[in-house]
Amino acid sequence: LNKEGFRNEPMRDFSQAPVRAHFREAIATVRSRLGMRYPLVIGGEEIETQETIVSVNPSRPDEVVGVVARATAEDAEAALRAAEAAGPGWAKLPASERAKYLFALAEQMRKWRDHLAGWMVFEVGKNWREADGDVCEAIDFCEYYAREMLRLDTPQRLGSLPGELNLMFYQPRGVAAVIAPWNFPLAILCGMTVAAAVTGNTVIMKPAEQSSVIAAKLMALTREAAFPPGVINYLPGLGEEVGEHLVQSPKTHLIAFTGSMDVGLEILRKAAHTDPRAQQHVKKVVCEMGGKNAIIVDADADLDEAVQGVLQAAFGFQGQKCSACSRAIVHAACYEEFKTRLVEATRSLILGAADDPAHAIGPVVDAAARDKIRGYIDYAKAEETLLIERETPADGYFVGPTIFEVRDPASRLMQEEIFGPVLALIKVDDFGQALDVANGTRFALTGGVYSRSPLNIDRARREFRVGNLYINQKCTGALVYRQPFGGFKMSGVGAKAGGPDYLVQFMEPRSMTENT
Ligand code: GLU
Repeated sequence: LNKEGFRNEPMRDFSQAPVRAHFREAIATVRSRLGMRYPLVIGGEEIETQETIVSVNPSRPDEVVGVVARATAEDAEAALRAAEAAGPGWAKLPASERAKYLFALAEQMRKWRDHLAGWMVFEVGKNWREADGDVCEAIDFCEYYAREMLRLDTPQRLGSLPGELNLMFYQPRGVAAVIAPWNFPLAILCGMTVAAAVTGNTVIMKPAEQSSVIAAKLMALTREAAFPPGVINYLPGLGEEVGEHLVQSPKTHLIAFTGSMDVGLEILRKAAHTDPRAQQHVKKVVCEMGGKNAIIVDADADLDEAVQGVLQAAFGFQGQKCSACSRAIVHAACYEEFKTRLVEATRSLILGAADDPAHAIGPVVDAAARDKIRGYIDYAKAEETLLIERETPADGYFVGPTIFEVRDPASRLMQEEIFGPVLALIKVDDFGQALDVANGTRFALTGGVYSRSPLNIDRARREFRVGNLYINQKCTGALVYRQPFGGFKMSGVGAKAGGPDYLVQFMEPRSMTENT
């Protein structure tokens, strides 16, 4: 087993014709398999349910991607029992054995790579590149956390007093509920799941309703990778039904959640409640929430780079990333030029169904998301200056990239997470003011600075307080191991995914002192 040598999975190079042809074939295969049924998987058993979730293609909503079982609270209870039953055997395995399952899962995902991406193209409207990146990140999480576990498995010797041996080491927590978002429907679900599993916990995967089919594909590959039954369970359903049950249950030890601030805060609140008769532990919550991320464009910035960076960070996957840039804070010296170029670049983006690689911008995930984002746009039209709004295709849940010019840093467009392709542009007089505006939200997830000034870059490092700061680079697309991802304030309570502090949260530290 290789402890070193982690390398990020290389993305597909779609400039190569054979690579495109292969991907196109995978898309065609996936298309021919749309509409299948997917049961729950609990303790290795497939279970059909009365109610179902119908997952549709947001590019063409009359296309059914899959019909997925919809678990009830009773099914959730069965999953908790199955995970509990599988727990002791799994926890007893040496860490190096558990790590092997992650390497096997990574291998399976490599084998089915373009198909997995294809499912995301259809189920959540990712374009080719975004979908491919999502699969690469999922593979990276397996490869990285497996190696991390090998590192953490060696007890640390502490202190140096003669006659005393001090060791510190970790143990699993127990049953983990993984409550995942639809925006990185493979990567984030897989990352939280394998982190929980490799550290010796057993897992119940509760995917987002909108991306239950890709989660079923992940479940199937964990079975190909031969994870023992009950170690990973698949429990699609409604948040208010099964998510709620998992969070409240005294059988749950750990909750790994990525999603909105409102849901995250509710989970934290509910998880804190302990029933003294049924529960002898405090639940641990690893929680990644929203962002209201800013990119600062300094007076001397390279505008070619800055325009592209803001464009990609604001509108990539239709702005539906918690890392997305939703505020561009621009120095007065280059404001007018930047604004003109950004608006023109936005005008050139091609919108359309996600399966066609000519389309840079696809649909948003569902009708509710579309309506919520449009609601913000309508509100902002009355309050702010609209710079550009794009026509959208008639079919599908589309919202075009939209930019508003904003004057008040306290306005809703500058404060609330919209989770869509809506960007607020604001002018500032100097770099200090830019930092004040950038820091002036309740979130602290990602941020970017385009500048050529070493002084200002150094100042940003100290004063631009976000979890992930990018200098002369867009603020989305964090890579496992190289840019550990996650923030603080209202953006989350959990150390950074894909970094060296992540796995320890899934375990309990112990120490032992021996008088030798
Ligand atoms: N890690 C992703 C990125 O840096 C964002 C994850 C998220 O949206 O939750 O783009």
